[in-house]
Amino acid sequence: GEWSLSDKNVYDWSSEEEEPDGRARPVQVLLVKDDHTFELDEAALSRILLAEEVRDREVVAISVAGAFRKGKSFLMDFMLRYMYNHASETWLGDADAPLTGFSWRGGSERETTGIQIWSEVFLVDKPDGRKVAVLLMDTQGTFDSQSTLRDSATVFALSTMISSMQVYNISQNVQEDDLQHLQLFTEYGRLAMEETFLKPFQSMIFLVRDWSFPYEFPYGQEGGMKFLEKRLKVKNQHEELQNVRKHIHSCFTNISCFLMPHPGLKVATNPLFDGRITEIDGDFLNNLKVLVPWLLSPRNIDVKEINGSKITCRGLVEYFKAYIKIYQG
Ligand code: GDP
Ligand code: MG
Repeated sequence: GEWSLSDKNVYDWSSEEEEPDGRARPVQVLLVKDDHTFELDEAALSRILLAEEVRDREVVAISVAGAFRKGKSFLMDFMLRYMYNHASETWLGDADAPLTGFSWRGGSERETTGIQIWSEVFLVDKPDGRKVAVLLMDTQGTFDSQSTLRDSATVFALSTMISSMQVYNISQNVQEDDLQHLQLFTEYGRLAMEETFLKPFQSMIFLVRDWSFPYEFPYGQEGGMKFLEKRLKVKNQHEELQNVRKHIHSCFTNISCFLMPHPGLKVATNPLFDGRITEIDGDFLNNLKVLVPWLLSPRNIDVKEINGSKITCRGLVEYFKAYIKIYQG
């Protein structure tokens, strides 16, 4: 078919990864090229997930997925802060510190459909005493034409299958489009499930950014759940969307929704804004303080399971490779 998997390393690690300061960074592990072929950077994936400290640890794989320019990286950088500050009370950090990590400012960077992972896998102690490995993934698509929609759907399906939690980042509302995209990518996922007789989807979180009807449905998780229930029900009239709803429910063990306020005009429009929290709206920060621990606290994170078995980092690499083969058909 038109899918191809390249075994060769697309990056020159000897010069790129071994930066003198040894700082962690995002690494593109899955890339959709202009000719719609997929390239899995197995070397990079192995380098990160087969590192001695993590390879035999059970893995918590958290993916944030969605279209470009909707604040995914901005959010993920706060997730990184939480991880680097060991979930402490003051994880949000210095009020005047610029936000770093995944690159979140618009600009020269090409928009690449694919999956980036954070090069540092975090070791976290669960309350029950188990030490687990936490992997953060940024999954992005374009959705601007039929062909890119198909690419994005496949990438989403893949990231959903290899994650224990998929955060679906959408702007302003859950639109018809968002549900159709979801249908498309859960269909690609079902394809894989039929091939393997596995039910690999765990948690799906609809994260609605710039929510502007807090008086109807309040910000946060409770308002989100009520909103989502209603939103999916209304769409029930159409048979196609009724199927999406049924399908989503049959694919995921947990489904939830979180409504985030707008972060303020400086974040949205000021090209000089560097991410410092003094310039972010209080409402946004207050909800961020709820959202991030809700997603990432040691108590809340779930190990990736496939067919009832917990998966290690090493196992995840194998599944990643196996799932990609399915799509190569
Ligand atoms: P990504 O492409 O989805 O990763 O989006 P980015 O994180 O790079 O953010 C794109 C732009 O949106 C940046 O200028 C951010 O400052 C801004 N931004 C970040 N979060 C939000 C949000 O919640 N709402 C709005 N309106 N803008 C945001
Ligand atoms: Mg981004």
